[in-house]
Amino acid sequence: MDKVIFIVCDGLGDRPIAELNRKTPLEAAYTPNLDKLAKGGISGAMNTIDIGIKPGSDTAHLSLLGYDPNTYYTGRGPFETSGIGMEMKVGDVCFRANMGTIDRDLIVIDRRAGRIDDTSEFANLFNNTAIDGVTFLLKKGTGHRVGLIMRGKGLSANISDADPHKLGVKLLEVKPCDDTKEAKFTAKILNKFIRISFLKLKDLPSNKKREKENKLPANCFLIRGAGMFPKIPSFKEKYGLRAVGIAGAGLYKGIAKILGMDTPNIKGATGKPDSNLNAKIEKVIELFDQYDFFFVHFKAADTLGEDGDYQGKIKYIEKIDRAIKPLLDFKDTLVVVTADHSTPCYLKSHSADDVPVTIYGKHVRDDDVDRFNERECAKGRLGHIKGLNLMPIIIDLMGLAELFGA
Ligand code: ZN
Repeated sequence: MDKVIFIVCDGLGDRPIAELNRKTPLEAAYTPNLDKLAKGGISGAMNTIDIGIKPGSDTAHLSLLGYDPNTYYTGRGPFETSGIGMEMKVGDVCFRANMGTIDRDLIVIDRRAGRIDDTSEFANLFNNTAIDGVTFLLKKGTGHRVGLIMRGKGLSANISDADPHKLGVKLLEVKPCDDTKEAKFTAKILNKFIRISFLKLKDLPSNKKREKENKLPANCFLIRGAGMFPKIPSFKEKYGLRAVGIAGAGLYKGIAKILGMDTPNIKGATGKPDSNLNAKIEKVIELFDQYDFFFVHFKAADTLGEDGDYQGKIKYIEKIDRAIKPLLDFKDTLVVVTADHSTPCYLKSHSADDVPVTIYGKHVRDDDVDRFNERECAKGRLGHIKGLNLMPIIIDLMGLAELFGA
């Protein structure tokens, strides 16, 4: 059976850029190795969710890995809490949160508490807080971030954010987004937690000390992105494959973990443009005998797109190209390269534009595409597919598809 190396280049797709003679960064980049994959593979254009739908990274990854986000996506929270290694149970309501600064009138002064770099004291202080039968679990995330879980009976994730997402306005009261008693109860308890935590945090000695040092106090949790931890079959249960997630950024580790993949630490993998991409491919080589499916995530093309930095995006794509060179020599392996969505430098945000996809391997019916980019891949044999089509195609190429009929 072929193994699969499944590479997602976050935000890779783009639109024509005038300064690049109307090429996209991927078209303008020098990518001999990606082009060899396209030449020896089948290519296509793909909308990871659906045509005209602008995907989030979380929903797009679920779809790419064969999990319908309409069934399994309930909000960002569970992926964040999973990404920082919190253990979750079905029915938990999970959130992402920042440590922020508010004044006595609850007006948000800073959404990162002066870019505080360690929130462990604050997370630990409120970890295991119980309010009306609901337990709050907290753990520090990277920098100013905190993971927060509500655990108890009768909870709902259909509630609004406390974080107003901007400065100079009042912290929001959490509201139920439907008429159920679960949503009303969850909102009420969360508002209580926010009040209790503010009263404790504002007088905390370490915050008094921060104020004396002219630093902003970390006196509130800016809570957002409620999602209920879903009952979701693992990758092993769904496909019978031993899978590993090789990623630097928390969200993508979180997605891999929720699907039951192992997520080893990768030295120098930061999720930023300076990330050590070679170390990710070296990890694939190191673990090659232990797994059947390798989900490899490269983050920064997305970040550079959001910065509008098309030159940086070109350089980063060329860095990906150099890193994946060893994969050309792998035997009995399908190498899949694609993106979760486009992040055009012109828009500085995600877009619904389709993304290129190539499946390279000895037994695929290769087509005439010989460059890996948006325009060329769209001419390939795969045609125009959706994200949820990709895993069934891969499973069939592996010879594992179930017969429909007799
Ligand atoms: Zn993304």
